[in-house]
Amino acid sequence: MIVRLLFFILVFAIGWIIYRQFAKAIMAKSKSVKKQDDKSHEEAMVKCATCGTFVPTSHAVYDHNQTPFCCVEHKLEHKS
Ligand SMILES: [Zn+2]
Repeated sequence: MIVRLLFFILVFAIGWIIYRQFAKAIMAKSKSVKKQDDKSHEEAMVKCATCGTFVPTSHAVYDHNQTPFCCVEHKLEHKS
């Protein structure tokens, strides 16, 4: 009787381990897909007209001539 109980516990444990491995594999797969997606959405870089630092387009500051700058300070510096 006790052997049967141990056998059930063993089967349950193995099933649980397989389930965990499966869940981990699926999670890793979705993570890698997300990573790949992020890479494809990598932003273009623009050069600051004042100091020459490369900044992502979304972080760049533009003046009325669409000249890119790394920060507002450099935009103002360029004008003067
Ligand atoms: Zn700058």
